[in-house]
Order: sequence, then structure tokens, then C-alpha cells
Amino acid sequence: MTAATLDGRAIAARVRARVAAEARAAGLVPGLTVVVVGEDPASQVYVRNKAKAAAAAGFRAATIALPAETTEAALLAIIARLNADEEVDGILVQLPLPKHIRPEAVIEAIDPAKDVDGFHPVNAGRLAIGRPALVPCTPKGVMTLLAEAGVTLTGARAVVLGRSAIVGRPMAALLTAADATVTLAHSRTRDLAAECRRAEVLVAAVGRAEMVRGDWIAEGATVIDVGINRRPDGRLVGDVAFAEAAERAAWITPVPGGVGPMTIASLLENTLIAAKARRGLA
Ligand code: NDP
Repeated sequence: MTAATLDGRAIAARVRARVAAEARAAGLVPGLTVVVVGEDPASQVYVRNKAKAAAAAGFRAATIALPAETTEAALLAIIARLNADEEVDGILVQLPLPKHIRPEAVIEAIDPAKDVDGFHPVNAGRLAIGRPALVPCTPKGVMTLLAEAGVTLTGARAVVLGRSAIVGRPMAALLTAADATVTLAHSRTRDLAAECRRAEVLVAAVGRAEMVRGDWIAEGATVIDVGINRRPDGRLVGDVAFAEAAERAAWITPVPGGVGPMTIASLLENTLIAAKARRGLA
């Protein structure tokens, strides 16, 4: 089998257009504020892209860029101000933060109703008990890709590689909620290849360049590659050896151009959800 490629850029563009149209139809201008601390180049790019996409969707987008030496107290004060600001529907603090700031203190300070990254323990807890509200953007984007591919999740054997709080765990929760039978694998999993070979749906979110080889893939599987890794030659690759895996999978996402664009599309969806909920429209 030769896999069909799931075009994240095209699907994300459709999602963004739908969100913009929905906001317009509801007469809403959702407000998103992105906060970034320090000069991490990747973070700067992510923040710029998020604010640009929000503005393109007709949202009120603001970026607060703070110097690396900003104290935790100062950042918490800014979040308190954003929590109280009626014009702000969504607050996103770009991670990673400088070492002297505790990410958990910052995430927990965000009003859960404005937590468009879905990282606050209230939102993580709601997802874990099957009552999702604001869901982390990357796994939410993966669910949209799976829906677009028409993949049947009910009863399917799904394997998620990686158990981080921002990707792997919420991914497993979403697949469980969609009635898949989910295995959550990680660095201590015995015989990862064998676990993967059983997967009808495989989501790789490990951060190891091309770790998942072609012979780990079941014939006809759907393979979603969340990983973004830079090779020494500068090339961006995923966690899956794309060409090998594509020989066996039915569907596969490329890197770049697969899951990445979906993350921003999901952020816009979450901001609209938050804006509607805060106005009693949802
Ligand atoms: P983390 O480093 O937080 O988590 C990685 C997970 O992979 C951990 O659970 C770890 O296991 C597991 N792992 C690491 N090495 C192995 C191994 N050799 N075998 C099996 N499991 C292993 O990463 P994130 O979840 O934040 O991100 C994962 C990848 O996704 C990265 O490449 C990141 O850049 C990318 N990413 C992409 C996004 C997008 O928009 N496309 C958004 C977010 C992330 P253990 O828990 O045992 O340590």
C-alpha cells in the first residue's frame, strides 16, 4: 500500500476560514493575547504565527513580549490583568519559559475559561473525565485530521507514542473519548515496535528524529506524526521515517505541513469557543 498524504496546511486553512466565518456570523470579535518571555527564536516564530492567524481570522490579536529577566511575580501580575480584561477571551503563554519562572504557577494562574491552550489543571481534568472544555491545540488538531481522513475510531486500536501533558496524554484522552482502544506508550515501554505494529491508528509525539521505522507500521494504518526534529543538515523531520512508513500506511501526515498547521487552527477554534462561552452563547 502507498499512503495518501494528509495535507495539514489545506485542512488547517479550511478550519481557519470556518472559524472566521462563524465568528462573523455570531457578530463576535474574539480577543486573543499571546504572552512570550525571552528571545527563544522558535518561540518568537510560533508567537508571530499565532497572532498573525488570529488577526487574519478577524480576531483582536495582541502580543505581549517580555524580556527574559521578567520575574515570575511580574508575569503573574500581567496574567491577573488579562484575566480581568473583558476584551480578552483567550490567554496563551508561550512555552518554554525562562528557568526562573515555574510554568505550572503561570498555567494555574490563567482563568480556565480563557485557557485556550487547554493546559490548566481544570481543563486537563475535564478532558480526563470525559467532559472536555478547552482542549490542548495539538491533539485537538490531530482529531480534526483523523476526521478529515474519515478514519473510523470506534473500536480501533490506537497507539500514542509519548505521554507529555501537552500532547501524548490529552491525545490518549481524546482518542478514548472517540471510542478507540488506546495504548499510551513511552520511554519505558517494552518492545515499542511490537506495540506500534498493532496500531490501526498511530500517533507519534516523541521528539526523536525518524525513530518509528517502516516495519513498525501495520499495513493500512493511519500514521500521524506530531514530532518536529531538526537534522544536523538543517532538514526538518518527524518522529516517523516518512518514506518507509508511507509504503505501508493508508494515511500519513508529512513534516512539515501535517500536524503543525493544525495546532494554530485549533487555537483559533478554542478562542472562538472561549469567546462564545464567556458570552453565554455556547
Ligand atoms: P516531551 O519531550 O515532553 O515528551 C516526549 C515523550 O516521548 C515522553 O513521554 C517520553 O517518554 C517519550 N519518549 C522519549 N524518548 C522515547 C523513546 N526513545 N521511546 C519511547 N518514548 C520516548 O515532548 P512533547 O510531547 O512536548 O513533544 C513531542 C514532539 O512533538 C516534539 O518533537 C515536539 O517538537 C513536537 N511537537 C509538535 C507540535 C506541533 O504543533 N506539531 C506541538 C507540540 C510538540 P517518558 O515520559 O518516559 O520520558
